[in-house]
Amino acid sequence: MLRDELHKYLNETLNIKDFKDYAPNGLQVEGKGEIRKIVTGVTACQALIDKAIELDADAILVHHGYFWKSEPEVITGFKQKRIKSLLENDINLFGYHLPLDGHEELGNNAQLGKLWHLEDITPQPGLVRLGQLEREMPIETFIDTVTTSLEREPLHLPGGPDKVKTIAWCSGGAQGYIDQAIAWNADIFISGEVSEQTTHLAKECGIHYLAAGHHATERVGVKALGEHLQQTFDVECIFVDIANPV
Ligand SMILES: [Zn+2]
Repeated sequence: MLRDELHKYLNETLNIKDFKDYAPNGLQVEGKGEIRKIVTGVTACQALIDKAIELDADAILVHHGYFWKSEPEVITGFKQKRIKSLLENDINLFGYHLPLDGHEELGNNAQLGKLWHLEDITPQPGLVRLGQLEREMPIETFIDTVTTSLEREPLHLPGGPDKVKTIAWCSGGAQGYIDQAIAWNADIFISGEVSEQTTHLAKECGIHYLAAGHHATERVGVKALGEHLQQTFDVECIFVDIANPV
């Protein structure tokens, strides 16, 4: 398919206009005009680019792209190496951040809910989801589900009840949203990354907290998006997992 056709489809499907983000969503580095093979991954790090070159990909599609508001604007050092690799190999880079967290079907949070068999009962729009297990279970049993589904044992900060049913979650560096989970009276809040103060908040506010991994909680969205593209268009999508313990 044509790059411009893919770009338009992704922008529309992921409703990028609805999000105020910290990085540009869409085509970030322009490569060839025709796309047959797409490598998907969490972060456009050098290892992912090298793998895309090896696989002869025409485009890379990631959740964490480039040009974040907080980063230096100059293209030097590791950033120069990454962009040079893309340009020299005529590979397009597409990055979708918050739109890929929040999409109601393909997003990280929607996919996590599916993975953990949660019925979504979120009372208001936003990135944080609230869901319910079909029946109450011991916290340890639910932690086992998270471990198995993400192939990574979460860090558990205890504070909630022995048996859990109501779960709030948000992928990535979303530990600050624990306030939202507390306001919703959730038994557990799950995000990717954790902060020092989360330990005290969990204990003092009667909620369990699980740090399930920033990388681990954000593989699901881009992977689902790649599968969707492969089913919809004449393109091959290959998900490449560059391991990251954080
Ligand atoms: Zn992230």
